[in-house]
Amino acid sequence: MKKRIVVLGATGSIGESAMRVVRALPDHLEIVGLSGRHNTEALLQLAREFPSAALCTGDEASAAILQQHLPDRIITHGAAGLKLLATLPAADLVLIAIVGTAGLRPALRALEAGKDLAVASKEILVMAGEEVMATALRTGRRVLPVDSEHNAIFQCLEGRDPSTVKRLILTCSGGPFRTSDKEELALVQPEQALQHPTWSMGRKISIDSATLFNKGLEMIEARWLFGIPMEKIDIVIHPQSIVHSMVEFVDGSILAQLGSTDMALPIQFALTYPERIAGPCAPLDLAALGRLDFETPRLDLFPSINLARRAGTAGGTLPAVLNAANEAAVEAFLEGRISFPGIWKNVEQAMESVPFVEHPSLDQLVTADRAARESVRN
Ligand code: NDP
Ligand code: MG
Repeated sequence: MKKRIVVLGATGSIGESAMRVVRALPDHLEIVGLSGRHNTEALLQLAREFPSAALCTGDEASAAILQQHLPDRIITHGAAGLKLLATLPAADLVLIAIVGTAGLRPALRALEAGKDLAVASKEILVMAGEEVMATALRTGRRVLPVDSEHNAIFQCLEGRDPSTVKRLILTCSGGPFRTSDKEELALVQPEQALQHPTWSMGRKISIDSATLFNKGLEMIEARWLFGIPMEKIDIVIHPQSIVHSMVEFVDGSILAQLGSTDMALPIQFALTYPERIAGPCAPLDLAALGRLDFETPRLDLFPSINLARRAGTAGGTLPAVLNAANEAAVEAFLEGRISFPGIWKNVEQAMESVPFVEHPSLDQLVTADRAARESVRN
């Protein structure tokens, strides 16, 4: 039987890789819902390719344009539209690939409606991972990680007793400034920061990879996905991005997952889970690669890792504050309003100034998120 998939964020980089997987596996996967925000042209093209997909766009005006082209189609917009797509009776699984936290409420709705989730949007797990995982447990649904590191760990952990895990080792490419010094980091411009050495991704995550906030967010993401305390989550720099992450067990064995640098691989694993089938990804030629390198991260030059460790350990509203302040700071950097090191500084200031709540409700998380963005704007 085909698995019926909704993709929220279909017009983005993850969305594009997901479409590559779906096109390659027509006997296994079927698209029943697609969302985009501003890129109406791309959504229209996808809509023509997938004629049974309900659609959601960013606003009423673009929804009206789509409806003119596709008079018989279900077309919605905005937050209500995302919710509708997330709970479509025809869907089995919802892939959350919206950048930032706009996918959080749709993700919770999807679980409540009995859908499995595939999550690329690490921001929703950083902000409200406890809530997402508790909802999945209560509704008996799966939260399948798409982020390549977490997908790797998920594969290494499968079927193993969690008490035998000594630590999770997240690999990190080091980003474009792996070997830069403090003076060089102070002068980094947006165009330089957007050039990732091994992955081609959306703008926000590319900047996060340059500051290493991406890895910081991923530590907190792992903490919730796998129920592992922060002190058992480590990072190793691995410039080739071939070992996607590892799990060390109590006996000293380390299991790793390797694969080509192509998000289609973890996306396919999540969409087709628990099946493993041949797909569109190029095989890995280890002999052609020749070597795999590992290094210690430079925590003094990239404060994001320690800030994230602090937020993940404290819990409460602090991860939401870190995440929201980082989103606002990345925006400010891309618009030329703050320097590259200013991203770290702004996040740290928000973490110090926004009031801390230890056991927040979803509304309190949203309030903390807003206050953090406000703190960066000021
Ligand atoms: P992109 O910026 O390429 O795409 C984002 C998608 O979300 C687009 O479809 C965009 O629509 C839509 N979107 C943006 N904001 C909103 C909003 N407020 N409401 C509804 N839809 C919105 O991002 P990526 O694909 O790179 O990343 C998506 C998520 O996946 C991020 O959370 C990222 O951290 C994570 N991720 C990405 C990886 C990658 O390789 N790219 C790897 C691992 C994780 P439109 O373009 O039409 O405006
Ligand atoms: Mg990742």
